[in-house]
Amino acid sequence: MNLDFTPDESAFRAEARAWLQDNVPRGGRATDGEHMLEFDREWQQRQYAGGWAGVSWPVEYGGRGLSLIQQLIWYEEYARADAPLPVASAYFVALSHAGPTVIARGSEWQKSFFLPKILTGETVWCQGFSEPGAGSDLAGLRTRAVVDGDHLVVNGSKIWTSRAQHAKYQELLVRTDPDAGSKHSGITWVIGDMTLPGIDIRPIPCMHGASHFCQVFYDNVRIPLEHVVGEIGDGWNVAMATLGFERGTASLAEQIMMSRVVERLIELAHTELGPDGVRPAIQDDEIATRLATLRAEVAALKAMSYTSISRAQRNFVPGSEGTIIGCYNSEMLQRIFRMAADLLGPEMLDRDSSDENWVYEYHRSIMTTIGGGTSEIRRNIIGERVLGLPRDR
Ligand SMILES: Cc1cc2nc3c(=O)[nH]c(=O)nc-3n(C[C@H](O)[C@H](O)[C@H](O)COP(=O)(O)OP(=O)(O)OC[C@H]3O[C@@H](n4cnc5c(N)ncnc54)[C@H](O)[C@@H]3O)c2cc1C
Repeated sequence: MNLDFTPDESAFRAEARAWLQDNVPRGGRATDGEHMLEFDREWQQRQYAGGWAGVSWPVEYGGRGLSLIQQLIWYEEYARADAPLPVASAYFVALSHAGPTVIARGSEWQKSFFLPKILTGETVWCQGFSEPGAGSDLAGLRTRAVVDGDHLVVNGSKIWTSRAQHAKYQELLVRTDPDAGSKHSGITWVIGDMTLPGIDIRPIPCMHGASHFCQVFYDNVRIPLEHVVGEIGDGWNVAMATLGFERGTASLAEQIMMSRVVERLIELAHTELGPDGVRPAIQDDEIATRLATLRAEVAALKAMSYTSISRAQRNFVPGSEGTIIGCYNSEMLQRIFRMAADLLGPEMLDRDSSDENWVYEYHRSIMTTIGGGTSEIRRNIIGERVLGLPRDR
């Protein structure tokens, strides 16, 4: 793996930096509701108009067809310019895993119909994987679909569906063959349309006050068969690709944001008083050690991501080792915002502004070891598929 950038890559970086400098929206972003959606849509449309949506997506579907290294450079410059965090955007599912799954496994019609609408900001997507009885044990899902002519007819319920209330499309996992033998067989990955008759979306309030996710009910919902991604019954393999994208490279921009937050905390530790109430916090050994460790961890995570991108260049679908990054990333985010809480104390509440959303980010960090797979499940995957340890069941 070569860590030096080519002249073309450096020129690309300069171009990205200049565009971001002129175009990143200022003044903060609402964190939920219609204002958030409007903000995210405008920002997505602006990136598309500037030629920056889908840096590594194929040109024929509206992307720029550039390399994953250029995608990584874009994320680096993006975070450096303090642009809105992709993982918090209404377009995150569409851009980070639904789109890449359709690129990797979709039909030609699906690619040309769905992908451009993602990049232009026309469609928000959500993910309908988890069910009331199937979260960690995703293969235990029971939402049923039967083939009726040229449609799938869906009945059942999905839960914790982030932004279902704003989405046009959904990556939906359904059981098409309950007698297939193993629970991983007989599952189908289909693109659901959230505006179809028979869909009932009920928002669930969260601890940070917003309704980030919903429970969704399906009552004889008819989805055209041409929306099935991959083969009927092969949905588990397609879902593993989706989760590879979700748990791996998708978190890149967030890592760069973490690096910025750690540097900001180090800066604050020079002015905030430490536990003795007399000297600056940075002069407290424990705080200084924790901050230095976080800075080293950020560097380690960045090195892991570069390795992963380098591997993904050769094989577009990320492997299970992306789970190591996902696991480390989410747990580190929690350590960073716990550090912020320890450093700022109750003052964290007063410091919240449009530029520094400490309380919201602290709350958001808590969910990162659950959404997209819990830390325990990620460790199981690492043990079984990366280290080759015996399966737990
Ligand atoms: C903010 C947020 C957003 C989400 N968004 C979406 C979304 O958009 N779409 C979607 O489909 N889902 C979404 N989810 C759901 C998420 O994927 C599930 O919550 C997650 O997979 C865990 O499932 P569960 O909640 O059913 O917990 P459970 O599976 O019931 O797990 C409970 C506990 O048991 C542990 N556990 C379970 N099985 C094992 C095992 N085999 N070994 C060791 N420990 C185990 C778990 O780690 C956990 O601590 C979201 C969740 C959150 C928090």
